[in-house]
Amino acid sequence: MKKLFAKCIFLFMLLFAGSLYAQTIDTQSIKVGIFPEDDFTTIRIQCFSGNWRVEFGTASATREYLAEGEDCTIMLVPKGLVARFSDGKDFNVGYDKITLKGGDLLNLEIPDHQPMLLQGSLTVGHADAFINLVNTVTVHQHIVSSISKIGITNEPEALRAICTMARTRLAWLMANPQHKESPYDICDASHCMPFLGCGYNRELVDLLTSMTDGQIIRHAGKPIMPRYHNTCGGKISSARDVYGADEPYHQAKADLLDGKGSENCFHSPNFHWSIELQKVDVLDFLSMAFAGGADRMYNNWEPKKVDAGGRILEVTLRGKMPKSVSGTEFHKELAEFFGPNGIKSMKFTMEFLRRTIIFRGMGYGDGTGLCLYGADGLAKKSQKYLDIVKFYYPGTEVK
Ligand SMILES: [Zn+2]
Ligand SMILES: [Zn+2]
Repeated sequence: MKKLFAKCIFLFMLLFAGSLYAQTIDTQSIKVGIFPEDDFTTIRIQCFSGNWRVEFGTASATREYLAEGEDCTIMLVPKGLVARFSDGKDFNVGYDKITLKGGDLLNLEIPDHQPMLLQGSLTVGHADAFINLVNTVTVHQHIVSSISKIGITNEPEALRAICTMARTRLAWLMANPQHKESPYDICDASHCMPFLGCGYNRELVDLLTSMTDGQIIRHAGKPIMPRYHNTCGGKISSARDVYGADEPYHQAKADLLDGKGSENCFHSPNFHWSIELQKVDVLDFLSMAFAGGADRMYNNWEPKKVDAGGRILEVTLRGKMPKSVSGTEFHKELAEFFGPNGIKSMKFTMEFLRRTIIFRGMGYGDGTGLCLYGADGLAKKSQKYLDIVKFYYPGTEVK
């Protein structure tokens, strides 16, 4: 009996130690701005599961509950935020914020957007004449959401590497906030880390996020700012060349295992791409994206600096007053003008025809850091998770 008691105590202590140990970064919360760039004044929130507590205003003096199947519409009017519930209750005093918490799943509808499933808590506030939305989730929930979206692979070793990359990026962003004036820590776009709520979550990603719990890629003991992209097209570029950034773990290298065989991302649908554009559309693009006044009309452009992998690092805009633009800025404008599937990377050549230009390119994204299709390829070549991390972030350790 005594022995059994001692055993129970021992097991209890183990469990207790285990729960203490489980307090990693993955359980910390992070505030995500939902469509922070968009202007809207009405949203609709539907309770999918659980009982959501709705608090009105900062003092939270007024409370209401949103039960399963019920919904509420929140609008911004001149006196502040007002809400109407599906059971007919009106809250029309005008509040500075409305917070929903305590339930399991919400469905959020914003005009002109796909409905979004959310966990955690949701704060509806406003700045100027528009609503802003902040979804507070755990780091674990965030990794599962973003990697379910961008992690193009089913290879467990590749996904473990990609989940660790995402966690490291979140750790870096929490330590180095990029949106200091905002009510959120990070935005929901690739500027910080893509976030789509939990509607597209994959179970395998959830499992592998748990398996890598707390693991972070470090250089000189500190979390790195890990860069990543869809497909490098065979050559990874350095952060120094592409961004002028001093990040020794983002080096230029061939995306090849042991320097031979086929490229790790060769199977990517974006390894080779081509698109034929009308010359007049390219001219329109130059004037829309860069021109300002008669002195700054550009009628042509050309690559100015290209790295060893063939990536255009800098371009010259030709006109009355020539201008230099970084490759990344030029590419951002191209993607905005021609769409994300137009010119997929700055690694391309051009063939000039009478009315059109044929762009023949390789890869998708900026080509720095981890190549997502390359990670998938390395896993298919039997590389383990830590080998994949070290391949794309040389000189780092995972701890
Ligand atoms: Zn951001
Ligand atoms: Zn690659």
